[in-house]
Amino acid sequence: MMNEFFMNLQEPVFRPPREHDALIVQATSGCSRNSCLFCAMYKAKKFRAKKPAEIEAEIVSVPAPFRGGVSKIFLADGNAFCLESSDLLEIAAIFKKYFVNNRFISVYANPLDITAKSPEELKALRAAGYKNLYIGLESGSDRVLHTMKKAGSFKDSERAMNMAHEAGFVLSVTILLGIGGKKYRGEHAAESARLIDACAPRFVSTLTTTLYEGAPLYNMVKTGEFEMPENCDIIEEHYNFIEAINADRIIYRSNHVSNFIGLEGVLSRDKKNLLHTLSRFKEVNSGNNFIKLKTGGNYEI
Ligand code: SF4
Repeated sequence: MMNEFFMNLQEPVFRPPREHDALIVQATSGCSRNSCLFCAMYKAKKFRAKKPAEIEAEIVSVPAPFRGGVSKIFLADGNAFCLESSDLLEIAAIFKKYFVNNRFISVYANPLDITAKSPEELKALRAAGYKNLYIGLESGSDRVLHTMKKAGSFKDSERAMNMAHEAGFVLSVTILLGIGGKKYRGEHAAESARLIDACAPRFVSTLTTTLYEGAPLYNMVKTGEFEMPENCDIIEEHYNFIEAINADRIIYRSNHVSNFIGLEGVLSRDKKNLLHTLSRFKEVNSGNNFIKLKTGGNYEI
């Protein structure tokens, strides 16, 4: 309801599922990189960073009684963490002034946006109220990242996550099943699991590569330049990814609409159950011919 007052929200607006009850404030429009071949999220938007004063003017238009009801803020768009630390600190101070009951700020961040900041800047941002960083890792494989024109590498992601942990941030990361194509699917699963093990982020989610007409990957698949794995191979990739993770106390979810099967659990406590479900699911399906199964956290099929 609060967002009804933010008339300047420029569609489309995306936010992570965990931020469904947060006030969305657009500090940027679009994604500063916008290069990833699989992504259509912000292809129609020209990147623009708002000045803190512009954001403050929008907030002032929200009636004061409504402002008191805000306890979480999500800073959009794509990778709003790319803003200069001084601007992010100014924005946090504006939030503090107008949303007196706000508890924390969450934001999408690219690994390179994190490593571009010093450890001191990250600590200052954490102290100012930034808490949850949502990072689309997509893959731990440098070859896959390079092929998909996703900026950064395994080392960049590892360094970014370690720096963010050091500063006290809570990390929520996503891995994109199928993005290695037929060619690199084994490497994609193994390297992605190795990256998760190296940093143990609090939340890990898997999404499944979906072909959107606005994304370059759509045509690459049509012309045969990129071969998507079959659905059953994506389940195998999913299985291999989970199996290879050894880090503890990771909250794992594959509850995105793009996934063939909905899973939820704590790694490594629930690893056995998750693998059992995936292996049963694979046994009863083949090729590309199967239906999606949303278990909503129930591992038995
Ligand atoms: S995947 Fe993330 S970094 Fe890549 S274009 Fe989309 S929003 Fe930008």
